[in-house]
Amino acid sequence: MAATTVYKEPAPRVANTENPLESMMSRFNIAAEILGLDDTTYEVLKAPDKQVIVHLAVMMDDGKVDVFEGYRVVHNTILGPSKGGIRYDHNVSLDEVKALAAWMTWKCAVVDIPYGGAKGGIICDPTRMSVGELERLTRAYTVSMKDVFGPDRDIPAPDMGTGPREMAWIMDEYSKTVGQTASAVVTGKPLVMGGSLGRTEATGRGVMVSCLAALAKLGMQPEETSVAVQGFGNVGSWAAKLLFDKGLKVKGVSDISGAYWNENGINIDEAVAYKNAHNGRLEGFAGADPMDPNKLLTSKVDVIVPAAVEDVITEHNAHDIQARLIVEGANGPTSASADPIINQKGILVVPDILANSGGVTVSYFEWVQNKQGFKWSLDMVTDRADRIMNDAFEKVYATSQQYNIPMRIAAYVVAIDKVAQTYKYRGGY
Ligand code: GLU
Repeated sequence: MAATTVYKEPAPRVANTENPLESMMSRFNIAAEILGLDDTTYEVLKAPDKQVIVHLAVMMDDGKVDVFEGYRVVHNTILGPSKGGIRYDHNVSLDEVKALAAWMTWKCAVVDIPYGGAKGGIICDPTRMSVGELERLTRAYTVSMKDVFGPDRDIPAPDMGTGPREMAWIMDEYSKTVGQTASAVVTGKPLVMGGSLGRTEATGRGVMVSCLAALAKLGMQPEETSVAVQGFGNVGSWAAKLLFDKGLKVKGVSDISGAYWNENGINIDEAVAYKNAHNGRLEGFAGADPMDPNKLLTSKVDVIVPAAVEDVITEHNAHDIQARLIVEGANGPTSASADPIINQKGILVVPDILANSGGVTVSYFEWVQNKQGFKWSLDMVTDRADRIMNDAFEKVYATSQQYNIPMRIAAYVVAIDKVAQTYKYRGGY
């Protein structure tokens, strides 16, 4: 066997001034202060319950064995089994996964579904691995996490770099280790093996629903509203498509290949068809002109939807934002240092833990269906998910009015309050 090497990749994806964990904690602290959270509960909620780090030796196609570092962080299980995706990316770090795990706790609490929060990650570049390598890596990760995962313990799902294919491998491998089919151990599965109708578009749909709810508060008409969407992966492309269907003019979109602009509005159906026919990339799309990707979020539009990675709105570009509304499709796209600038400019922000919670909401429906052994219709899924999103939006909006605080902090207040109240009933040692 050839020498073992630790898999490493170059170049961080953004020049970062603060890490997502710090950003998450600073909002948590503000909300805790507003709620007058007692010291014990603060200490309980501040740090994750469990952090598992594994090293996975995986045979690559060339016969060499590479060792990959993987994580699963369970932030909290006060509301129920922990829930959260698994990220495959070369920039994954433990701090990032810790922040993402805590965001899952708050997200599930905001939409009032009975889950705690968790997140997983593996440092790897899935775009440079073969299907066989990815399968071996995913199965190795699943076996190493067999005591963490479980249908009533910790339920993974897709995140950046993973999708239904990886979830199918996790379901299969976990089922083998427990000796029975365990569909409910993971969500975001392919439809044929217990996935839910509506799960693929769920996060983008929730972004659309919360965007329309926010436009109504601002007295803006969808047909007279322009939008730029950063990211054209699962979340961004579905958000763009559904906003386009509602009559918004999507003037700008971007993906890893660059950013694209059309002053008259991009036909998103054509953009999606182009992307699907061109390896998932928009490069060469004729329905829009290339533009500087760094200018997309500060372009002249009414709404921006950051739906890619963390920390893309920082103190460096927040001053230049022209939009009246930001709807956060990504987790943590705005660093905490940008919050005061955005608030001072009077921009309304539908924060990540509210705006992108449609994904985990339909994950919850998938889990319920698996446990029921019964399949829901698409209408049933979307009606219920839309209702949950709208109710959560109204609750967070009302809280922001009540305390005179931005919607981001209001979302944390709603979430932390729910978890803290439940903790009081459950009690500790
Ligand atoms: N990864 C998604 C998120 O960040 C979905 C998580 C889930 O469905 O459990 O919300």
